[in-house]
Parts: sequence; structure tokens; C-alpha cells
Amino acid sequence: MSAELVLIVIVIGVITSVVAQLRGRNGVAWFLLGTLFPAFALLIVSVMPAEKPDNSPTPETHVKCPDCKELVLKDATICKHCRCKLMPTLIVESVAVKKATIVELQSAESYHSALLKIGYKITRKGSNWEVREPLGGRLTLKTDIDFVEYASSKV
Ligand SMILES: [Zn+2]
Repeated sequence: MSAELVLIVIVIGVITSVVAQLRGRNGVAWFLLGTLFPAFALLIVSVMPAEKPDNSPTPETHVKCPDCKELVLKDATICKHCRCKLMPTLIVESVAVKKATIVELQSAESYHSALLKIGYKITRKGSNWEVREPLGGRLTLKTDIDFVEYASSKV
């Protein structure tokens, strides 16, 4: 094989590889095919349907099944691998929010009784906490979080 021919074969291999990569296929494999079957491989890779874009699972789209540890879609309600029932992530998140609210309420209530014991007068009006301090100060706290914050500085 003359040097020119080798060069032409390599150029065709490179072109085949580039076309292959543009169409979502393995560039190295198609470079080799392009040099082994110059022009023919290029023709084949050009007419073959393009590979679909890579839709492999990511943390944004998939979660691990707690039972079989396979990846499943985030909003799936049944694992496609082991058929176990799943809680879609959105529901799990809202349950977590509810739990946090309950903890907050509990601590608000416990601070409430703690403050009562040391002479505070506290009344709830809707979500407001109206506080009368033992030394005569008065204030209104708008939310449970505000109340817990205030109360934790007093007890
Ligand atoms: Zn599973």
C-alpha cells in the first residue's frame, strides 16, 4: 500500500469516526471500521439511524428502590424490578414537611408550659402568641417559630 493510500484510508477513517460520533455512536470502533472498510463503513454509519440521546438515570429523575436497590423513576408508585409499592418522592417530601411542623408545634407547646411555670401569661389567638411577661412587658408573636425563638431565649 502506498503512503498516499494509507493517508486516504486514515482520513476516511477519521471522517467515519466523526460522522459516527455526531450520530451518537462509538467513534473509536467506527474509526477502525472506516479504515478496514473505507467508504463502505462511512456509507453505513451515515444511513444508520442515529442513536437516541443518552437518557441514563440521574438523581433528578431516579431514586433507589428501598427493597431491591434498583433505580426507579422518582414518581413511580410501584418498583418495575421487584413490584414493591413505592412512595413517590414528592409525597415523601411533603410527609417530611408535616413532621417538621409537628415537631415545631410540640416544642411551641412545651415552651408554652415552661413559660407559664415561671410567671408568663400566654394566650393564643389564631396563629398569634400573645405574651405578657412577668415584669409587665407585652408582645405578640406571629408564628410558632417566632414564639419558639422568643421562648427559648427566656427559659
Ligand atoms: Zn424494587
